[in-house]
Amino acid sequence: MWIQNAAALLLVPLLFSTKFLGEAYSPMTMSAAAKATLYDMPVSNNGARSRIIIYKKKISSEVDIVSPMELGGLKSPEYLKLNPQGKMPLLTVEGSSFAIPESDTICRYLLSTYADVGPSFLPNDAKSNLIARLHDMYLTTIQGCLYKATPPFGIYGTRKDALDEFRKQMKVIDDLIDADRDGIYLCGSEVSLADATLFPTMTFARHMLPKFGIPETDALPPKIKSWYSQLLAGDDVFNKVHDEVLGALQGWDEKGRWDTIPLAGLRDEDPETIFDKIIAKEIPASVVYEDRAVLAFKDINPAAPAHVLVIPKERNGLSGLRKASPDHVEILGKLLVAAGEISKDESLGFKDGARIVINDGPDGGQEVPHLHVHVLGGRSLTWPPG
Ligand code: AMP
Repeated sequence: MWIQNAAALLLVPLLFSTKFLGEAYSPMTMSAAAKATLYDMPVSNNGARSRIIIYKKKISSEVDIVSPMELGGLKSPEYLKLNPQGKMPLLTVEGSSFAIPESDTICRYLLSTYADVGPSFLPNDAKSNLIARLHDMYLTTIQGCLYKATPPFGIYGTRKDALDEFRKQMKVIDDLIDADRDGIYLCGSEVSLADATLFPTMTFARHMLPKFGIPETDALPPKIKSWYSQLLAGDDVFNKVHDEVLGALQGWDEKGRWDTIPLAGLRDEDPETIFDKIIAKEIPASVVYEDRAVLAFKDINPAAPAHVLVIPKERNGLSGLRKASPDHVEILGKLLVAAGEISKDESLGFKDGARIVINDGPDGGQEVPHLHVHVLGGRSLTWPPG
């Protein structure tokens, strides 16, 4: 998923050589494990947890970290043969009949294979495992809302819903953290898999949420925020991984990655319309349908015996249909479904069918710059329109 930017890939060999990742190799403490290769890039937050383990256990000489470009990139046949998902990270182990294309499984392989080297990362600690699992189920699956060009983000069809959920799920993890724990790590004085899993994603959140108007001070919930600062201040490996991830993200900033992302670089700054006042119930309207996303009300100046307008409650840039983008796919579908339902409602004067119209721009006769679907009926309408 990170590989979309070809220019970034060209930088990878420079940024991410094994020299850059180098750690002192201590043959005295090393177990005789088969040589492994981690395919990963600095920006990969999921791969970063494996890197934290590799750096902490000082096994960089046993586990090479290389760019997927070594195999031609994430979409190359050679890479896809090893990881059909075409994603990072991927671990290959010499002599093994299969590769491991999933970060938690890679980490667990490293923890068990190199159990006698460096910190254990508490592989059997219930809280650590719970936090890592919550992260993978509820944060990783939707984190794309922070930087991806288009929805869906996991099960969420709108960026706003996914962003709200992302923040809610950070809070769920925050509630699990013991404020009085004895040490800087999530489970106390020993580093755990949860620390390695959560930290890189929180680097994403801290950097990206402010782009969506969330103040930097509120980007992370309070206990995560203080844990994150303690790791930055007190742990060299976490600091190093922070710099790797953030360095890559700053590269995204320089290329204007958020300039075209709705709610971040692209915000709805057009003036409010009369429909905002109707939505806010500041002026009356004859509302015939309302849900979380959509409002429908009778047109004040009906052009047919039955005439209802269906509008999105949040305009989100949709001053007209010509402003529609993939971020609007869900609301556009909802508007049409609502229009179809309304057109069947005989109590509103609709009979056998209706005309569903969107006037767009001056040539289309649009007067109110807030997308609205006209549902017209109650008589047989002529065609073509005037
Ligand atoms: P359009 O020409 O497609 O922009 O349509 C705008 C529609 O909004 C017109 O049919 C107006 O009659 C209708 N309209 C404007 N103000 C109100 C209002 N306060 N309540 C209901 N309908 C309105």
